[in-house]
Amino acid sequence: MTCRHLATLSAGCDTAFTVDASRVTFGRGALAEVGDRARALGMRRVALITDARLRALPWFEHVMQSLTAAGVDVAVFDEVAIEPTDVSFEAAAGFARDAKPDGYVSLGGGSVIDTCKAANLFATYSAPLRTYVNAPIGDARPVPGALLPHIACPTTSGTGSEVTGIAIFDWLEHHAKTGIASPRLRPTEAIIDPRTTSTLPAGVVAASGMDVLCHAVESFTARGYAQRAAPAVPSARPMSQGSNPWSDLGCREAMRLVAAYLARAVHDASDAEAREQMMWAATLAGIAFGNAGVHAPHAMAYAVAGRVRDFAPAGYPSAPLVPHGIAVAVNAPAVFRRFGEFCPERHLEAAALLGADTRGETAGGELLARRMFELSRAIDIPNGIGGVGYRESDIGDLVAGTLPQQRLLANAPCDVDARCLETLFAEALHYAD
Ligand SMILES: [Zn+2]
Repeated sequence: MTCRHLATLSAGCDTAFTVDASRVTFGRGALAEVGDRARALGMRRVALITDARLRALPWFEHVMQSLTAAGVDVAVFDEVAIEPTDVSFEAAAGFARDAKPDGYVSLGGGSVIDTCKAANLFATYSAPLRTYVNAPIGDARPVPGALLPHIACPTTSGTGSEVTGIAIFDWLEHHAKTGIASPRLRPTEAIIDPRTTSTLPAGVVAASGMDVLCHAVESFTARGYAQRAAPAVPSARPMSQGSNPWSDLGCREAMRLVAAYLARAVHDASDAEAREQMMWAATLAGIAFGNAGVHAPHAMAYAVAGRVRDFAPAGYPSAPLVPHGIAVAVNAPAVFRRFGEFCPERHLEAAALLGADTRGETAGGELLARRMFELSRAIDIPNGIGGVGYRESDIGDLVAGTLPQQRLLANAPCDVDARCLETLFAEALHYAD
């Protein structure tokens, strides 16, 4: 095993954690509140960011009616790409500059909400794209000030983007997935109407549900906030501040809900209770990981998604593509099996929350890995990175694509280097059924 225990830290470590979250309104019919909420935030002319599929669904009309009834003028941008790119970010920012809104509403999945964050950022503070993009690919400059208000209305039960300050995209010329991370990007409000998930294809519910599960388990097993070096300015701690008591609350409940409802939500689109509970699990896990941060499975997912060859998942029109939730889920069992020894009691508790029989057990890595795999196979998630088209000869390339994700790797419960990642990818090629 090549992942190393953290040196025992105490002097010089952080001693506090911060709780940040968007204002959340959750429940069936909540989309009817968008117009009044926009007015209350001072909006008179909004940029409504969505995609072509959503525009044809009733949820778009619900939002338009609510905004119009409140006397809010609306400019619509419906050209968001699934898995956005630097090009689609720039297109949305260009639209926003021309539209001159005084606020934003996003209606869609993580791709739409992330694109809206980028449009708000670059229309407010015009700069070359690389300026605010995470290092090492970008310059990682801090966002200089507040953005315009943004009401995010998620329509998938997965990314948690409506409550986080992260925007992810494919930077085409670098062949890399990367992102922008700043508390300034966090939407002002999230209006979460679980009815929107009734129109989701099963494959999308499955992939986004695994994303929820990984947000919860990774945040729960992340390095503790008091094991991270204190920031030079005490109040400037990173958003990925490590596992903490606040995030633990949401993680535990999200894990319990996913175990109870994910398979039901995938296999029966008419099971409104299951789809609503998955939306609530996504909200809780989003708030949790927005404060704790995820780690190795997400870091590895950047490479898995970014180097796709010909994988074409059901429910996603634009292939080839490895949906984010699948790109994360295929790595997760290998990571939890290996990392279990670094915080055995947390891995054991997570396994128990997911329904594993943990009686008489003292270490949970193996149990958690097996349970994650069972849950993913029950909803037809591909088996390992081999299931989305990778071979042993790709491992070096996947490691190289993961190492730049230091923001996430540094949040793992142990030190992660290239040899550790080689081991993890090799074990993630294919899991024994
Ligand atoms: Zn995720």
